[in-house]
Amino acid sequence: MSEHSRTLEQRYDVVVVGGGAAGLSAALVLGRSRRRTLVVDAGEPRNTPAAHMQGYLTRDGMPPAEFLEAGRREIAAYGVEWTAGRVTEAVPDGADGFVVTVDDGRTVHARRLVVTTGLVDELPPVEGLARRWGKDVLHCPYCHGWEVRDQAFGVLAHPVMGAHQALMVSQWSDDVTLFLHTAAPLSPEDRARVAAAGITVVTGEVAGLVVEEDRLTGVRMADGRVVERAVLLAGTLLSPRDGLLTALGAATQDTPFGPFVTVDATGRTSVPGVWAAGNAVGPAEQVINAASGGYRAGAAVNGELILTDLDRKAAALVRG
Ligand SMILES: Cc1cc2nc3c(=O)[nH]c(=O)nc-3n(C[C@H](O)[C@H](O)[C@H](O)COP(=O)(O)OP(=O)(O)OC[C@H]3O[C@@H](n4cnc5c(N)ncnc54)[C@H](O)[C@@H]3O)c2cc1C
Repeated sequence: MSEHSRTLEQRYDVVVVGGGAAGLSAALVLGRSRRRTLVVDAGEPRNTPAAHMQGYLTRDGMPPAEFLEAGRREIAAYGVEWTAGRVTEAVPDGADGFVVTVDDGRTVHARRLVVTTGLVDELPPVEGLARRWGKDVLHCPYCHGWEVRDQAFGVLAHPVMGAHQALMVSQWSDDVTLFLHTAAPLSPEDRARVAAAGITVVTGEVAGLVVEEDRLTGVRMADGRVVERAVLLAGTLLSPRDGLLTALGAATQDTPFGPFVTVDATGRTSVPGVWAAGNAVGPAEQVINAASGGYRAGAAVNGELILTDLDRKAAALVRG
């Protein structure tokens, strides 16, 4: 045993890094599988600005904080430990596990890691937009489109996806304006679709938002024009919080949103002993998908540990 591992404060079967939907779901399966599990959570889930979480069957409309609180209660019932904190480093121990460092100075040992650290939305740098994020500036019509259906929608063209979101939003409202802002001109195919959907296209840069009595009322163009709008969809650039995974050498793959760490159907990364789930490895995951991915990863880790331990015992029996 190395000097380092002798000084470890606690040893766990699994450390789950990140306590959002994906992490708590992995932890629930692991706890119910009688695995000694620690969840370390930095407390910045992606949907924090939203008052309600939509589209999660049986929890539709629940406040996100309430959902996570319920999840923490459920994992505690199975003996899973949860701690507030940020994992700053996870390094192989040279044997069959990892040394995990938390930003409060603690160092723990994990036989396996499940990384569910989510992603960061990089908002377009439009004045006033960040302040309305999760209120009347929205990122996804599936999450919040129903609540604002039939209203005057604006869509800020996405640097990667172009007109895509405006086309989607036409399912929720007949009154949609696409602001090209700094995006490239539309392709002939998108121009035809935008025209077919009756979407108004506004060229020129957006300078900021007009907000009155804590409500979005318009989009202010750089030339001074104001286009009245009640809701603005603004796709973001997605930045996965995958630093722990890439530092361990996890392979990535290109996606339309940039490189994301590659996982198989169970969430296994290319690094032995490391699984990942949720938005950290899946740009399109919503809460229910993140929870489902965490469940799969938790079950896969437990299964792998069972077989690893049985193979060791079987080899020892053969050796006599
Ligand atoms: C404004 C907004 C509203 C949304 N509304 C909805 C909705 O209504 N319905 C829906 O289905 N989806 C919604 N989403 C998407 C939803 O937020 C994500 O799908 C979901 O949060 C992904 O879960 P996750 O567990 O992968 O990541 P997260 O929920 O982001 O959780 C990751 C956790 O890991 C922690 N963490 C990160 N790094 C570390 C570290 N090094 N150490 C320890 N902890 C760490 C973070 O602090 C965070 O608590 C919304 C997103 C946004 C931006």
